[in-house]
Amino acid sequence: MNRAKKVVASVSTLLTRRTFYPSPTFRCDPLPTVSANSESHWSHESLQPSPSAQELRFSRRRFCSGSSDKRITVCWNCGFSSEKAAFLFCDSCRSIQPIDDSIDYFQIFGLERKYELDGGSLEGKYKDWQKKLHPDLVHNKSQKERDYAADQSAKVTEAYRTLTKRLSRAMYIMKLNGKHVNEEETITDPTLLMEIMELRESIAEANDSKELDQIRSQVQEKLKQWSDSFVEAFESHRFDEAVKCIQRMTYYERACEEIVKKL
Ligand SMILES: [Zn+2]
Repeated sequence: MNRAKKVVASVSTLLTRRTFYPSPTFRCDPLPTVSANSESHWSHESLQPSPSAQELRFSRRRFCSGSSDKRITVCWNCGFSSEKAAFLFCDSCRSIQPIDDSIDYFQIFGLERKYELDGGSLEGKYKDWQKKLHPDLVHNKSQKERDYAADQSAKVTEAYRTLTKRLSRAMYIMKLNGKHVNEEETITDPTLLMEIMELRESIAEANDSKELDQIRSQVQEKLKQWSDSFVEAFESHRFDEAVKCIQRMTYYERACEEIVKKL
């Protein structure tokens, strides 16, 4: 196989995530020290989930006032209304409320909607949430409320996972801005194609964990560089450029996954 064909074949394989990277669980960003707990329950003080769209149609009402975000949520159980963002519990009857799909992942953690996050603040808020969990919180509740609690728990876990990783956070914030990113789009830049191939070769040829760790450090540095480029492009509303940054971040993220798989 000549070199050009080899590059194409190599990249094609690299970009076929499901076959080349069977496990989607590895990450390049630092692993969170808290575990995602699908059995967890919400704290009404630290998190602010609210009703699902379906539920809203039947049991809660929201009202927008002009250009502000002010809205009123109404408890499905007792009808208590509040202008505050919806919490887990109704402040009046303490019944568990359904999630609100209009609440984005940043709002769940009370964070400003921006790409650059203070990692400690996200993790801290997630830990706070976990600390306030109580196993008896929903134990004696109705099936309906237990279901709501499970939905909310799943959402906060997904929110945490999404915001923790640079790549998924970048894609998510683009989505919030109405920009869809096709991470599977074929890369045509010959320089990048060559870099991809060479990196893959070096990973394949690495003989020990020390060597792989060195490569991973280099890849993480690249990931950071493209992450910084993404911030610049995104904040300047140069979304086409931001998409290109995400595609490169995708590539480096996958390279990290490949290294972790081999370690
Ligand atoms: Zn209520």
